[in-house]
Amino acid sequence: MTVPQNVTMNASPLLQSADYDAAAEAMRHGQFGHGPSTEKFEAEVAAFLGVPDVVATASGTAALHIALLLAGVGPGDEVIVPSFTFAATIQAILAAGAAPHFVEVSPHSLCVEPETIMAAITPATRAVMPVHYGGRAVDLREIQPALDKRGITVVEDAAHAFGSYLGTTRVGGTGADVLTCFSFGPIKNLTCLEGGALVPRNEDEAERARHLRYLGIDQSQAERVRATSYSVGGYGLRATMSCVHAAVGCSQLARFAGIAAARQRLWRTYAQRLDEIEQAVLVDVDIDRSVPFNCVVRVPARDEVHRVLRSEGIAVGVHYPPNHLQPGFTAWRRPLPQTEQIGREILSLPFHLRMTDDDVDYVVTHLERALGRAGHGFAEEAV
Ligand SMILES: *Cc1c(COP(=O)(O)O)cnc(C)c1O
Repeated sequence: MTVPQNVTMNASPLLQSADYDAAAEAMRHGQFGHGPSTEKFEAEVAAFLGVPDVVATASGTAALHIALLLAGVGPGDEVIVPSFTFAATIQAILAAGAAPHFVEVSPHSLCVEPETIMAAITPATRAVMPVHYGGRAVDLREIQPALDKRGITVVEDAAHAFGSYLGTTRVGGTGADVLTCFSFGPIKNLTCLEGGALVPRNEDEAERARHLRYLGIDQSQAERVRATSYSVGGYGLRATMSCVHAAVGCSQLARFAGIAAARQRLWRTYAQRLDEIEQAVLVDVDIDRSVPFNCVVRVPARDEVHRVLRSEGIAVGVHYPPNHLQPGFTAWRRPLPQTEQIGREILSLPFHLRMTDDDVDYVVTHLERALGRAGHGFAEEAV
């Protein structure tokens, strides 16, 4: 029997002809850098979130890096961050010159909890980076006053959570307390093909972010092209969002309500089917309030289940191996037994908008079989 094409991809963007047309039109203009579509995308995302301004960047990682610089994070500072996240979160901390202080996540949500953050604060703590894993918003409102009092900034890694809600407000739209960063990379809820954005807390921060994302140049792109010179006021990255990418983002945003509903529907279809399988525990994403980024289960004998499903052509994955165990991050290693166990058990199932109910059924049926076989193998090894 041939494997359905859709289950051979773990994640994949679903582009439509409007997205291709938008990119082609932007390319025909002949100017691919920061441009009018970039500013249009910023204004549209700001309107979507219900905030005054949004600063688009070349990637989510760049947005995180810039947000940390805006928060004054630098050498000698510590940033509290779950070990359980994509390596990009940690690299943004290192790019700012600071040290990650790795903490545990809840085995239920795979997100960091407020008490964990409070317990990890040291005199060097300058920021905390909650990661909205799988699209689930991390609610730190109860500790916000305590963090404010200590001068600790919350920089949200909302790479997975574009469109999700925290209570009744969208992630990124909750007000002036936190800096929120999104990724619009290839497989994120909304894709610009590549890109990111940050939500600044005020006008001054917005201006500084625009300065930082374009080589520290003081003038806007529009001013600069008309003048004989420009001034470089300080440190800056080259992290602008190309107008070709922004045009794709605008096109996706126009139909985002449909994208969000389809992702929720797919997740619920999985949830229903997985409910029948005792050995696979679905990681909860607070689906009523979230636009889910992925579908993750915790299973016994994960490596064996992964091997079996991969050998059957089913594109399961692991998102993510814990960062505190990475060879590049040994300087900041500390024991995190809960995270290590999660790292051994998680399995991401194929999750993208080409998938049909039959595809979900195919994946779950094979998962069930693989679990049976792995369990059997385990028992035999034990005797
Ligand atoms: C994708 C991702 C990022 C980085 O975003 P890029 O646009 O790829 O730079 C950061 N954190 C998490 C959790 C991500 O999944």
